[in-house]
Amino acid sequence: YAKSEGRNRVEFFHDALCEKADCEAAMMALMHKGLREDQFFMVYQSKHSANDERVVGAEALMRWRLDDGTMISPGQFIPVAEETGQICELGQFALRSVFEQLVAWEGLEGAPERVSINLSGRQLMSPIFLSRLEDMVKETGVNTKRVELEITETWLMEDPDHSARLLKALKNLGFSLSIDDFGVAYSSMNYLRHFPVDVIKIDQSFVRDVMSDKSLVAIISAIIAMGHSLDLKVLAEGVENRDQLELLRALGCDEIQGYYFSRPVEADRLKFVHSVAAALSA
Ligand code: C2E
Ligand code: MG
Ligand code: MG
Ligand code: MG
Repeated sequence: YAKSEGRNRVEFFHDALCEKADCEAAMMALMHKGLREDQFFMVYQSKHSANDERVVGAEALMRWRLDDGTMISPGQFIPVAEETGQICELGQFALRSVFEQLVAWEGLEGAPERVSINLSGRQLMSPIFLSRLEDMVKETGVNTKRVELEITETWLMEDPDHSARLLKALKNLGFSLSIDDFGVAYSSMNYLRHFPVDVIKIDQSFVRDVMSDKSLVAIISAIIAMGHSLDLKVLAEGVENRDQLELLRALGCDEIQGYYFSRPVEADRLKFVHSVAAALSA
């Protein structure tokens, strides 16, 4: 399912951006140019405590703005970057931007406690991923306790032994780990016992229809119960309205993320930074 979805996205991207011939090469060049010319940037979406609705963190999401202002969504360019291998370079960019942002936010009252970054399987599988990450931690001086790495289930299962070793190494560096889009892959939940994960992010497709589909309430309840019994925190993604928020809170969800609270925004537009800035200038 994920594969075919990825392929459709790639085709969509192809249609939108290039002629048939030599398309991948054209896109590679476009992305390369984009990286060189600072067309990529990160936006941040707040995460909230389900109980008191306070900001507890943020997720960093990548954006690509072409010269002419056209925005290309990560749903379009990430799958392409995964195919061309440029995901490693994009991934490095994301890590560096967020690390530098966290350092810049240090000591600023109201700044997010922790920020999560999405990692792609291909990026993680790269043999130099870990050493480059360690270098970047040293160079930027980021406190890794404030960084969460979001990983999807599918790649973890491709080589579970390697994954388990890598995740342990990441934990040893101080990072927290979350499973993104939890529940959409068909993989066994058994793996959670073997991987040092901290957070489960319930996929937004479950949340979207939860008010009208009782079976989704049952599935979400089961995920929360299982997560809690494994001492994991459970976050629900894609929460767009008050009804969903209240239902998820009643089901015992720990954290909430979604348009109901905020869309992803650029770093200096995050609400809490705004309020700090307002307080400083007052
Ligand atoms: P994701 O990590 O599951 O991120 C959640 C997506 O849902 C984001 O889309 C976010 O903008 C969107 N979203 C948040 N709240 C709501 C809501 O209430 N309703 C709806 N309908 N959507 C909501 P976005 O930013 O377009 O990113 C799409 C996917 O692209 C991400 O899914 C992630 O898998 C990937 N991605 C984004 N940035 C990066 C990155 O820096 N590196 C990697 N490897 N992947 C990335
Ligand atoms: Mg994510
Ligand atoms: Mg997700
Ligand atoms: Mg996703």
